[in-house]
Amino acid sequence: MSELRQDPTTREWVIIAPERAKRPQQAPKPRRADRLPDWDGSCPFCPGNESQTPPEVFRLPLSGQAWEVRVIPNRFAALMPDGDITRREGGRIFRKMDGIGAHEVIIETPSHNTPTALMSYEQVQKVLIAYQERYNTLKKNWQLKFITIFKNHGQASGTSLIHPHSQLVATPVLAPYYHRRLDVAVRYYADVGKCLYCDLLAEELEKGERIVAQTKEFVVLHPYASRAPWETWIIPKRHYASFGLFPDEHLAELARVLKDTLLCLYRGLDNPAFNYMVNTTITEDEENPYYHWHIRIVPRLNLIAGFEMGSGIYISTALPEETASLMKQVAYSLPEGECPTLKQKA
Ligand SMILES: [Zn+2]
Ligand SMILES: [Zn+2]
Repeated sequence: MSELRQDPTTREWVIIAPERAKRPQQAPKPRRADRLPDWDGSCPFCPGNESQTPPEVFRLPLSGQAWEVRVIPNRFAALMPDGDITRREGGRIFRKMDGIGAHEVIIETPSHNTPTALMSYEQVQKVLIAYQERYNTLKKNWQLKFITIFKNHGQASGTSLIHPHSQLVATPVLAPYYHRRLDVAVRYYADVGKCLYCDLLAEELEKGERIVAQTKEFVVLHPYASRAPWETWIIPKRHYASFGLFPDEHLAELARVLKDTLLCLYRGLDNPAFNYMVNTTITEDEENPYYHWHIRIVPRLNLIAGFEMGSGIYISTALPEETASLMKQVAYSLPEGECPTLKQKA
């Protein structure tokens, strides 16, 4: 029988219906990404084609000819930096404002065909440094209230270019999904006097059945009310509301955890399309005691259809307890040297 479960961080209900699933692990088959060239002359993100993109706003290394990570404004930006934050009436009940904000692309590597799962830890760490650098630069603009960093990988994720990249969008308005999570976290704090996510981590660690792995600073788990099979969260053990204020000395460990998690999904699900989102607090309230930044990785194995769009209720076809256990099995089945952070005993 299926089960309705409530996500404690959003209070949204999901339907977990494993009988609707095909087998979660498909037989490995070669994907197009496996046969891509390392360099593509028609790709605007490949080295040598820098003139096809707007000038970079950040790069690593900071100087020198060859770059390892580049950040550029999106050439087809949804939002632009100049404008007026004032809300205007668009009728009796309608409200509008200038489309101001920032929309940037983080080109994660010069290599056209190296997804995050196959990058070195050092390279992933550089990507995280670029995220934090751009976050902390853009938050100084008082007009930008909310900054979201995300990655789309694979066709089903909504990406339009293959070259490994992620994006950052800074908006002058609070994003509705964040609004919901913030609201729930504030209420919990008002009732219980503690951070909802710190409490959630404590309970998950006590139960253990949805924990994939833990390191010194992070827990990798499959959430109780996952919206999609193999949805995976990476949560820092220590309380930090903002990704921007997360100590950079822990970014090397985060890079290992993120890369190994993505590699395990890559191996276990044969290079699935996925989205990941860095969920962080608002720029004006970065040291609050109720929100707790984390990364949500959502493999795109199911299509979002009319029911989900119409109701906001997602149907997942796998129990997170089972996928967490499967993910551990995948990690342990990999050769030594692959996914070591998911194999270490806590
Ligand atoms: Zn490329
Ligand atoms: Zn917390």
